[in-house]
Amino acid sequence: MKDRFGRPVKSIRVSVTEDCNLRCFYCHKEGEWHRHTKEMTSEEIERILKIARELDIRKVKFTGGEPLVRNDMVDIIRRASPIMDRDVSLTTNGTLLRKYAYELKDAGLMRVNISLDTLSREKYERITGLDLLKDAIEGVYAAVDAGLYPVKLNMVLLRGINDDEIEDMIRFSADSRSILQIIELEVPVEKEYTSFFRRYHVNPKFLEEHFEKIAERVEYNELHRRKRFIFQFNGKRAEVEIVRPMHNSEFCKYCTRIRLTSDGKLKPCLLRNDNLVDILTPMRNGASEKELKKLFVEAIMRREPYWK
Ligand code: SAM
Repeated sequence: MKDRFGRPVKSIRVSVTEDCNLRCFYCHKEGEWHRHTKEMTSEEIERILKIARELDIRKVKFTGGEPLVRNDMVDIIRRASPIMDRDVSLTTNGTLLRKYAYELKDAGLMRVNISLDTLSREKYERITGLDLLKDAIEGVYAAVDAGLYPVKLNMVLLRGINDDEIEDMIRFSADSRSILQIIELEVPVEKEYTSFFRRYHVNPKFLEEHFEKIAERVEYNELHRRKRFIFQFNGKRAEVEIVRPMHNSEFCKYCTRIRLTSDGKLKPCLLRNDNLVDILTPMRNGASEKELKKLFVEAIMRREPYWK
């Protein structure tokens, strides 16, 4: 199904909880800025995914908070995988992944993104508030071992913190057989002039230009409409992608995603909270499938590009 701007909606990003075992200082919390307690159950998530599927949405990414702090995440994946047959993925900080990687793979998880901004124990604690770098790294290796593919490392570029670690991160991704995704720090327009954003934001365009020159090969990732830079490190292949959302109209033009907050509200855009559609309350109050589908369509129709 297409929105008013002709953009097809093909995937849903489901936040399963607002809880997290880390406290990353820059976290956008998937746009869930108001704490609430009414988390969806695994059955409710399954039911909403079935409605999404009727609208031809066949890809899901689970996020949070930290999805793996929910003790039924394997069950959620098991319920989602027959419905979302094109893609079932998860974004996680990886600190609990060693325990779950094989079970998640068995349940139908296809691929995973693991947040890893630094390889320095001290910086990791400074960014996340916890001394869990070792666990996150073990999570990366467990995911690769379990056969999740691809395993992508999400590195949010932060001025003065990890912008000197790019080469080390590329090397680590090659060693661990993962793909490095360097992500621009993103905030809504009203926060662009805060001292926080000015202090930490780096526009990664210069990196793209630099990689164009030094990469062994540049491929084009059709799915995400981004370049992928291929390097060789000690005979090992390294792959790097750069995600540049800020003021990027192309980013919004090709957005095919709708979001679902952990308290069951359809969210047309990460950076907006003024156009949500509550689907969980009507569901709990006994709404029919037809009524719920109508709410879904309403949310799709509220989608509009943020960066124009
Ligand atoms: N806890 C999980 C994790 O760490 O992946 C899932 C939630 S986290 C909000 C999802 C991703 O968003 C992480 O890779 C994180 O680094 C990224 N992220 C958080 N805040 C961001 C921001 N302000 N700009 C860009 N990316 C951000």
